[in-house]
Amino acid sequence: MIKVSSLTILLLALAAISAQNLTGYPPRDEVPDVNSPQVQAWLKEIDLTGVPAIAPYPPGDPTPACPTAAINANDCIRGCQSCNGDDLFECTAPNTWGVTFDDGPAPSTSTLLDYLRNQKISASFFVMGSNVIMYPDILKREVAEGHHLASHTWSHHALTTLTNAQIVAEMKWTEKAVMDITGLRLKYMRPPYGEINNRVRFVLKRLGYVVVDWTGDEFDTLDWQPIPESEKIARFTRSLDAYAASPRTKGFYCLEHDITPEGVSLAQKLVPLGVARNISFASVAGCEAGAAAYQNSIATPSASLPGTATATAGTGPSRSQSASAGSVTSSVTAKVPGAASHTGGVALSVASVFVALVASILLA
Ligand SMILES: [Zn+2]
Repeated sequence: MIKVSSLTILLLALAAISAQNLTGYPPRDEVPDVNSPQVQAWLKEIDLTGVPAIAPYPPGDPTPACPTAAINANDCIRGCQSCNGDDLFECTAPNTWGVTFDDGPAPSTSTLLDYLRNQKISASFFVMGSNVIMYPDILKREVAEGHHLASHTWSHHALTTLTNAQIVAEMKWTEKAVMDITGLRLKYMRPPYGEINNRVRFVLKRLGYVVVDWTGDEFDTLDWQPIPESEKIARFTRSLDAYAASPRTKGFYCLEHDITPEGVSLAQKLVPLGVARNISFASVAGCEAGAAAYQNSIATPSASLPGTATATAGTGPSRSQSASAGSVTSSVTAKVPGAASHTGGVALSVASVFVALVASILLA
């Protein structure tokens, strides 16, 4: 009986952690309310003068249908017009696989982090605000182990279906959640489903964001599709063979996800295919090594994990693309003053103390 009671109390304590982490943030997986005082304050800070007059598209399942009327070329819709605008869609570094994972963090992310650490590969994680507040410790681990964080919105809706104010809310709440937990202000983002047009680009730019798409459908690993893994591996092998036969003057960005065990499992089977073709690996920060990795950081995180030798692309077996000076450590420790108010990190610490207290009472 005592054991059952102890377990119950501990479970309640763990539930308290989750509850406290959610304090102050919008409901998960929903477009945040644009009428909240916080979003209204953010909207006052942003000048959207000149935003293209493109109406939000009707919601689709999950992506909107392409407009049936003649599409204005100035809309530059990625999904309907294959128009990339000024998005980044190639890794600037030659012979480099820009490693990106979307939709996390999630419990399956931990397995992936173990693997990437063993392989000495640094990746960019395009995180969802809704998941960031659920798994703040995984987010912190990503930063601590030399990975790069970027935004994938709060609730994963197609941004082309949202109003300008809703786009601001999606981006700023995610930015705040990551800032509260890590002190880092995100700079790069990937739109859910790759859905973007010039109105969305304009709003994102006013928020200081740089858009990163994946290089093309051949670099979509299809880890999200319910087809046999062997088919995905065969298809991606053909993509890598084609790339390996090219001059490799620029690298590529892939589309992968860390939100399911299946995606994480596939990732561990695809990396060796790149290694076998002598392709280097880098996060977006490593691919864009001349630029700051975050809006509040002038230092670019090292694309290499601590103790990893860097190498010039295409000349050696190193798994990582070398990056410019600076280290992730300096970014991690650069906590922003005032960011501690009702933060997930603080909430977690309070809850952790509570758990420790309960445990000590039970063990006494
Ligand atoms: Zn996604």
